[in-house]
Amino acid sequence: MPFQLPASDSLALAQNLQPTPIPDPYWVGFSESLAKSLAIPTQDGLPNDSAWLQVLAGNQTHVGEHNFIPYATAYSGHQFGVWAGQLGDGRAIHLGDVNGQELQLKGAGKTAYSRMGDGRAVLRSSIREFLCSEAMHALGVPTSRALAVVGSDMPVFRETRETAAVCARVAPSFLRIGHIEHYGQNHMHEELRLTLNHLIEHYYPECANSPTPYLSLLEQIAFRTARMVAQWQSLGFCHGVLNTDNTSLLGLTLDYGPFGFLDTFQIDHICNHSDHGGRYAYHRQAEVLHWNLYCLASAMLEALQEELQAVLGLEQEASIQKIKDTLDHYNREYANHWQSLFRQKLGLSIQYQEDVALLEELLQGLHHNQLDYTLFFRNLSEGQDVPKSLDAWAKKYQERLSLEKHSKDQRLEQMRQINPKYVLRNHLAQNAIELAQKKDFSEVARLLKILENPYESQAVSEDYAMGPPPELAHVSISCSS
Ligand code: AMP
Ligand code: MG
Ligand code: MG
Repeated sequence: MPFQLPASDSLALAQNLQPTPIPDPYWVGFSESLAKSLAIPTQDGLPNDSAWLQVLAGNQTHVGEHNFIPYATAYSGHQFGVWAGQLGDGRAIHLGDVNGQELQLKGAGKTAYSRMGDGRAVLRSSIREFLCSEAMHALGVPTSRALAVVGSDMPVFRETRETAAVCARVAPSFLRIGHIEHYGQNHMHEELRLTLNHLIEHYYPECANSPTPYLSLLEQIAFRTARMVAQWQSLGFCHGVLNTDNTSLLGLTLDYGPFGFLDTFQIDHICNHSDHGGRYAYHRQAEVLHWNLYCLASAMLEALQEELQAVLGLEQEASIQKIKDTLDHYNREYANHWQSLFRQKLGLSIQYQEDVALLEELLQGLHHNQLDYTLFFRNLSEGQDVPKSLDAWAKKYQERLSLEKHSKDQRLEQMRQINPKYVLRNHLAQNAIELAQKKDFSEVARLLKILENPYESQAVSEDYAMGPPPELAHVSISCSS
């Protein structure tokens, strides 16, 4: 039964429900920097008020001034290119707003949308989501964030027996393309329009002044998405499950599952081992998000056409053309942002058309020589020589650099601001997980601290900046979570 809720995203068809408690919760990880921005007072790295542990475990809904009224939302979506029908928050429960941000517990028990699932998340995947959310934020990528992971010895069964954890996630809104698809598919015209209006009012105020606000909204969502995925490409980040239900309407990186940062550069790397066709491979991410935006546009079609007819007098065919043209701007925005980021990675401040060929040749070289992606750019930023195998490219790069005006020191300084030293490589996450499974949470905390300053050299072992040792080079990430 849909009804009005106090939270800001109440417009998403929602259902009130309580999280299911977990026995004897304990802290696995906590982000003090996020707590600060949520105005949650902390001491020694944890909340002052110990009630937060119970709240983030899903065991109570009251802490300090907060009296949460939890709910879960319905959404639908396309999974691996196929319409999947209704999905919804099957294990994520919204608590409500904290300092203007939405707080959500992932793994807090069954909801009306759990289908066959148990509503739980395992420790392993919760630590991965926690660390990666905070790492991406520190890298400067728009993302949902993670306040904490709370664990319990309660068993959860996946391929083997594991233990439960709850990841407390935070975002301005968790609305997804799948929400709009849900309303479109089910002819929920009112919910659809209310949600579009809600998006414009709260997250895209610049669209309100457009003569065609819905078309502008579509365009702005596309722009944010294009810039986000360009950043992913520049960082060597693979999301792994870019279904429309995992695609944010705010251009945020959302739903961390079998993601991966590239170690050795492989252009068609697939990080999700259930993705047999490589639909979500590294080099296809931009294209597939464009496809997802088409799903969004078709879910909004009636609202868009009505607007285009009323304001511009466009008939059906002309309005469809207009919508297509608008979505095509995504490609231009993506290409521009991609080029700009990769130029910066190489320290090129002036734009030449020929730079694109130089960039492409480099990526081909990295691929053929199986060089470590993050390390290559970081070493370049530290003034190290390019590997011998890229000699021919290095000559062209040197020539190109001679056209630049900045001093070498200035250039390298700027390059270190865009080429991170530390990313959440799978083997680093895996190591923290294995220790945490033995109740040693120190590595989760250490990794978090390192990843909070990814662009600065830190007084830690150089191993944190290196690729995996050979025996860990291809740890395969289960998509069960
Ligand atoms: P995901 O592939 O993680 O984005 O999830 C797709 C859908 O499955 C979403 O509707 C999730 O809420 C739901 N889901 C995934 N795992 C579980 C689980 N253990 N229990 C209930 N629902 C789940
Ligand atoms: Mg909100
Ligand atoms: Mg999901």
